[in-house]
Amino acid sequence: MKHLFGPVISRRLGISLGIDLLISKTCSLDCIYCECGKTKNLTTKIREYVPTEDVIIQLREFLKDRPKLDVITFAGSGEPTLHNGIGKIIKFIKTEYPEYKIAVLTNSTLFYLKKVRKSILDADIIIPSLDAASEETFKKISRPEKSIRVNKIINGLTALRKEYKNSIILEIFIITGINDNKNELDLLKNACLKISPDLIQLNTLDRPGTEKWIEPASEEKLMEIKTFFRPLKVQIIQNHNYITKRSNKGHVNIPDAVISSLSRRPSTIEDLSLSLGINLKDVKKIINALLEKGAIISEKSVTRGIFYKKRE
Ligand code: SF4
Repeated sequence: MKHLFGPVISRRLGISLGIDLLISKTCSLDCIYCECGKTKNLTTKIREYVPTEDVIIQLREFLKDRPKLDVITFAGSGEPTLHNGIGKIIKFIKTEYPEYKIAVLTNSTLFYLKKVRKSILDADIIIPSLDAASEETFKKISRPEKSIRVNKIINGLTALRKEYKNSIILEIFIITGINDNKNELDLLKNACLKISPDLIQLNTLDRPGTEKWIEPASEEKLMEIKTFFRPLKVQIIQNHNYITKRSNKGHVNIPDAVISSLSRRPSTIEDLSLSLGINLKDVKKIINALLEKGAIISEKSVTRGIFYKKRE
């Protein structure tokens, strides 16, 4: 199931089957906090990065027994709206498996294009990100492909809001010393008032990002920002510890599920246990075997201990 991953427990969405439409790592941005590592293919070119039909075949196979899922999520190793088959895949799920909700995690950079907005109108939840509203801060955080401008993103999101009837949850990633100052927050708040999302979620670093010097925002700072954004509806994304346990039913091959998960995001043993529903002892065994084989590497973080990720 090369193009599917999980199901994992998502902090925001519950039990989520992931669809990855990109080849690692293809994106229109190269965010300093990205947990998928540095962008190798920095592009705005919309094309069929992986065969649409292959994704549909894999979905048909995975969903044939109607597994219990809260959502099917377009995410993974890059920006999903760069794939020109996303609309067709959403239509396929909605027609054949209407009981499943669909979420799209996106960096918002292509919403200035009507055809991109149109392609995801049937999704149930869109979670776009907007981390800055000034060009200078946007460039510092997102290191965009050269044609991208933050104003174009804000206008694209505003147009999406007018055309899209379901839920838009706008994510803002707060980085200490970069986008947490009064000036940037003023601009961001104005942009959010214009976009008018259903909800804003404040996020901050809880695992290693691409750049090691990034500092997560404190809970107090996030609370302060939440208050500052009133009357907009704002939520702080809960810490990973709030995830509840479940048992693993969906994975035929557990080591494959672990490696597939680590190829998309660095995780601790506890994260893997919780997100994949595998007990801690078994995860430790798999991790040790993968370390011995040299398939993964470990990295110590200041906040949450040792993270593991797939060797490139
Ligand atoms: S965080 Fe998202 S938008 Fe930013 S580089 Fe990573 S995949 Fe791309």
